[in-house]
Amino acid sequence: MSQTQEEWLAERRLGIGGSDAASVLGEKYGCPRALFLDKTGVEPDYFHTEGELNLFRRGHALEPICAARFVEETGMRVRRMAARVSQNRPWMRVNVDRCILSVDEDGPGYLECKTANESVFADMQAHGMPEHYILQVQHGLSVTGWKWGEFAILEPYTFQFMHFRFKRDEALIAVVQDKEEAFWRMVQAGEIPAKLPDFADDRCTKCVYRRGCRNAEALPKVKRTKKVYVPDTTPEIDILVGNIKQLDARLEEAAALKEIERTKLQILMGDRDAIAVPSQGKKVSYTLQSGSLRWDAQALDAEKPELAAKYKRRGEAHKVMRMYDMNEVEA
Ligand code: SF4
Repeated sequence: MSQTQEEWLAERRLGIGGSDAASVLGEKYGCPRALFLDKTGVEPDYFHTEGELNLFRRGHALEPICAARFVEETGMRVRRMAARVSQNRPWMRVNVDRCILSVDEDGPGYLECKTANESVFADMQAHGMPEHYILQVQHGLSVTGWKWGEFAILEPYTFQFMHFRFKRDEALIAVVQDKEEAFWRMVQAGEIPAKLPDFADDRCTKCVYRRGCRNAEALPKVKRTKKVYVPDTTPEIDILVGNIKQLDARLEEAAALKEIERTKLQILMGDRDAIAVPSQGKKVSYTLQSGSLRWDAQALDAEKPELAAKYKRRGEAHKVMRMYDMNEVEA
């Protein structure tokens, strides 16, 4: 980890930033418990994927381009500024992307720069700023004390650009301040917030703390309910199910043929345990293997239940698709 990232992490832990506001308040974005673990320096169980890290890097690299595009489109003037801390609430902090220089009696404004892929961009064009960004910018206005701001979005592939003006919303700011204060008290008291109620919540499936938070007994078994197979006669579904059926049949046939060819090869290899077949670019080995070691989980459960419970881990719930013949009984 580079020094810059360490410093960035250390700074993040000094208080609540704009991008944390949705985790403190939001019903749909982020999770107070995950934010608490982050703020208290708990090491994640999972690291972000390279793809996720590239998205962070892309956002960071394109921020100056987005700000420059904003200046070009609006003619307003902007400048960089250092992180700000709320005077009355020192746990509230903000890294303003740019300060928009004052143009009238409303004073300076807050410019928040984002990048978004085509579908997210189109969604914002149609529906405006998403809830978590609204909370983020109101948090920023609370810390700076400013009255207004602009939210600029750059779509990096087609280079589309748009911006929204937003205004200070005193009622929402009061809620943000209260909730963030309550959350920060919990961080200081070491009181960990509750888990999200639904263990299969989409946020949990991607959370970097999911193993420790949702392990073994914390992951309830998914209840099996009796399925009702509702007839569907749409042509698209008919074609897809037909394709899968044909592919399954071909796979079964190929598996049976492969088994026959393997048996013939084993006979031809005789006592030899390894051969090379240069014409096919393959090596083949046929050797005796030790039997794999397996735990007798049922015996462990019966004889050492506490030990079994301590080390038992349930995998995360996931959806599985199976296809049966109409008259076949489900496994
Ligand atoms: S696993 Fe779920 S409940 Fe636990 S911290 Fe992550 S998002 Fe929150």
